[in-house]
Amino acid sequence: MGDFMRSISFEHLISWCLEEYKTKASVFGIRKDKFYVNKSRNYMTDVLGDQLASPVGPAAGPHSQLAQNIITSYLTGARFIELKTVQKMDGEEIRQAIKKPCINAEDECYNCEWSTELTVEEAFAEYIKAYFAIKVLAKEFKISEGNDFAYNMSVGYDLEGIKTKKIDNYIEGLKDASKTEIFKECYEYLSKNLDLFENFAQEDLNKISPKVCSSITLSTLHGCPADEIEKIATYLLKEKKLNTFVKCNPTMLGYEFARKTLDYMGYDYIVFDDHHFKEDLQFDEACTMIKRLLLLSKDLGLKFGVKLTNTFPVDVERNEVPADEMYMSGRALLPLSISLAQKLSKEFDGKLPISYSGGADAFNIEEIFKIGIQPITMATSILKPGGYNRFKQVAELVEPHLNSQYQGIDVEKLTILAEKIIQDERNHKSYREKVRSRKTESELPLFDCYKAPCKDGGCPIHQQIPEYLKLVSQEKYDQAIKVITTDNTAPTILGTLCSQPCREHCTRLDYDKSLSMKAMKKIAADHAQENLMRNLKKSDLKSNKKVAVIGAGPAGIAVATFLRRNGIKTVVFEKLDQPYGIVKHIIPSFRISEEEIKRDYQLALAQGVEFRFGQPANYDIKELKKEYDYVVIATGAWKKAPSPVKEGKEQIVDALEFLWNAKKKNKVNLGCKVAVIGAGDVAMDCARVAKRAQGVEEVAIVYRRTETYMPASQEEINSVKKENIKIYELLAPIRYDGKILVCEKMKLGDYDASGRRSVKGTGQMVELAFDSVIGATGAKVDTSNFEKNEILLDEKGRPQLTNAFESNQENVYIIGDCRKGPSTIVQAMADAKVVAKDIMKKESIKDDFIRYSIEESEQTIYSKRGILEEVKKDQREGNRCLKCDQICEICVEVCPNRANIMIEVKGFEKSHQIVHIDGMCNECGNCGVFCPHIGNPYKDKVTIFWTKEDFDLSDNIGFLRLDNNKYLVRTETGNIVEHIVGDSKISQELEQILITLIKKYEYCLENAIVKS
Ligand code: SF4
Ligand code: SF4
Ligand code: SF4
Repeated sequence: MGDFMRSISFEHLISWCLEEYKTKASVFGIRKDKFYVNKSRNYMTDVLGDQLASPVGPAAGPHSQLAQNIITSYLTGARFIELKTVQKMDGEEIRQAIKKPCINAEDECYNCEWSTELTVEEAFAEYIKAYFAIKVLAKEFKISEGNDFAYNMSVGYDLEGIKTKKIDNYIEGLKDASKTEIFKECYEYLSKNLDLFENFAQEDLNKISPKVCSSITLSTLHGCPADEIEKIATYLLKEKKLNTFVKCNPTMLGYEFARKTLDYMGYDYIVFDDHHFKEDLQFDEACTMIKRLLLLSKDLGLKFGVKLTNTFPVDVERNEVPADEMYMSGRALLPLSISLAQKLSKEFDGKLPISYSGGADAFNIEEIFKIGIQPITMATSILKPGGYNRFKQVAELVEPHLNSQYQGIDVEKLTILAEKIIQDERNHKSYREKVRSRKTESELPLFDCYKAPCKDGGCPIHQQIPEYLKLVSQEKYDQAIKVITTDNTAPTILGTLCSQPCREHCTRLDYDKSLSMKAMKKIAADHAQENLMRNLKKSDLKSNKKVAVIGAGPAGIAVATFLRRNGIKTVVFEKLDQPYGIVKHIIPSFRISEEEIKRDYQLALAQGVEFRFGQPANYDIKELKKEYDYVVIATGAWKKAPSPVKEGKEQIVDALEFLWNAKKKNKVNLGCKVAVIGAGDVAMDCARVAKRAQGVEEVAIVYRRTETYMPASQEEINSVKKENIKIYELLAPIRYDGKILVCEKMKLGDYDASGRRSVKGTGQMVELAFDSVIGATGAKVDTSNFEKNEILLDEKGRPQLTNAFESNQENVYIIGDCRKGPSTIVQAMADAKVVAKDIMKKESIKDDFIRYSIEESEQTIYSKRGILEEVKKDQREGNRCLKCDQICEICVEVCPNRANIMIEVKGFEKSHQIVHIDGMCNECGNCGVFCPHIGNPYKDKVTIFWTKEDFDLSDNIGFLRLDNNKYLVRTETGNIVEHIVGDSKISQELEQILITLIKKYEYCLENAIVKS
């Protein structure tokens, strides 16, 4: 059944691990080279007195709910393992209460789950099985002696529940498991099967202590009164004799601080009111309580501390998860958790032990740890691509700083760190450059699903990005420019000005930062474009047809180049005296130089494109058709936009006119204070040009929404801010009299389907004094020539076109900005590619858009997985590329339960295929969030079922083993057939997958030894 997780018996867990390790050098999909070994053998003593090989581990949550999750955590470097919380409400009851998918870790993470979905008894068994398995595998795989990790149990939520028999048995069982059935079962199984192991022997088994866990974290619900928290903590210390942490809420910081901090860091869209802040434990009462509990623990010879922090309850605003309230974690929680750590440490002079969780990752863990905060647990970072593999990097980072004695917290350094974290732009929302989901629009295929979303779904011209990134990183610039110019006719211009939609889909965005594609393209162009041009030969004409292109902007030159190099004569007619339209005449020269534009023009010339400049603006298609077989119109969008104000239109300077004059060095007399109305890239250009104009002292951008919703790229917004240009948010200009700009104050409204917030007027007016106001709210297309030439327009006044952009007139195409208004250079080029392909198809000419294959070794690709890296400023940047179309497997990495596996199988385009294991999945949805296709791997990939009940409750295509030869198969058409291998009842692909599973992955196909 979809969200029902089935436990795996201890025997099966061990045989699975050993078999996978032996045959594939991996365990639950984690490659052996990603196992963490503390090579220095420099261990630490944690705040609880445990000897650990590392202070890192999974926070109580999805990564510690099943035995295989805990084993995987350990193998990758986790040594402080917070077991998923248990409480009296469990099993079926809690499963009914948790709506799925329950995790959304797109950026900061949201979830609507709480404690284990297993029964408490089942959870206990999972934790004991994992405990034994770690002891065995650590020894067997030569990781350690198996005594370098600690469990921490987590219980909730009230004293009455914690005192129930069920929870008490759980606590007592983990304190001493010797009398429990599962402990005996694991022990006996190992005792009888020692011959399975090479390095684990009877003496090792004898050393396994039944004292599984001696510490506990108390997790209470929001609003739990202070005296109840104290009573439970006292009970856990006094009665249960456990070292105790009390989990604190970020609400202890107070509403004002939390709101102000999140707003400052760009998380202003996260909605919460002050009720939790009022109802939760208050800082002062917490301090008083902690002081008493510290004294009590000292008297009892036990340890006491706080766990910082719980997730933060916020409102569901954009359907993040299917619930009314959700819990936030990850990078937006980091400033709150660290600030609370600072506040409490100050109060307790660094002597209050703090177990930390909240936005820790490879970029900040060293600093947090060195200050004395430990252990440090994670959940959000491990939910992202790379998954559990990320533990290895953080464990290695802190290893040199491990200390055998706990020294307390350095309050001074923590104060500096807390402030640094709030100021560091890496932690600000804008660091993700406005990208929400990285997903693209393709359906998730059943087989052969790997794709590089940068080029396939991101880049409109399908630039072969991973390929040229690799070549540039190897300094093979001549080859790189060849790959680039296959799809791109202006490598220098796009290497300088591209808006880079590819970056919005780059897998690296979920690690650290998208690759710098534009910069790498420019490096290739700078090194090799001249050489490419020198060696270019004009292609022979392959057709007697001729193409007239009207407009020598990026779209026009691109279509002419694509066609000419494929053997079709092209002539470009341009009304101006120079090529490259907006790029040449409008975009400021501090963004692109004359030489750079010229270089791309020469590339077109070198390939045989002919140009006629200074042509009449009023083209006549009928006339052109007498000489030319095809006409492509690419005349751009140059018409003045409607005025951004209702009154005083005549006082507003048009953006394009302004930029044109400024570039032509015509006098621009703006006065001292200038406003730019608008928030796109053109507005940013206007503001920056105005800032450089003589006499101008102050420039401001006036925008009706907030910075988050500005259409300009974050890169351009950052440039504007660096130049001290002000941004006035939430102001809608109404009138301008040449001196005063009157604006209405706006406020953000509800979210629309795209996740953008509407704006509403407040009726309140503000007056701002400006000497000049530039209107940059978007240019329009002049359609008069379309009409004169009898090109049909639609109800929006846009030309009516086919999918190949052909108009109502045969062989007359319309592309670029004049097709539907101002867009990007790369989109204009994409239009050109579509039309070029269509014309070549009509002329039966095979196009030359060659696909290159520049492979990376699998070993190299896998070695990068889970490793966060800084952006490189030089050609080495390409080494950060993960080559997603060669190896994706994100769904395998991000599954906390290991329910997606990669199998190697013959007979497909790619030998790696993805299979889903239904019995291990609880439909948390995490793999769906990160798969680059629109689909969900847990629903759309070939699925192995372990029980008939699960098979019946699912629609997934897949197999259920009935007996050794017979399988029940749901096929691609939804038919259910009983199938014996070789009897041709299922597709060749499914058959091939099934055969491979039987031969090489028996351990996950077999259901006979799986306990239901
Ligand atoms: S990591 Fe490389 S292949 Fe993957 S999306 Fe980014 S640039 Fe493309
Ligand atoms: S397969 Fe996907 S939905 Fe299922 S548990 Fe794993 S990540 Fe969650
Ligand atoms: S995430 Fe998984 S299912 Fe999606 S493309 Fe990658 S390998 Fe395929």
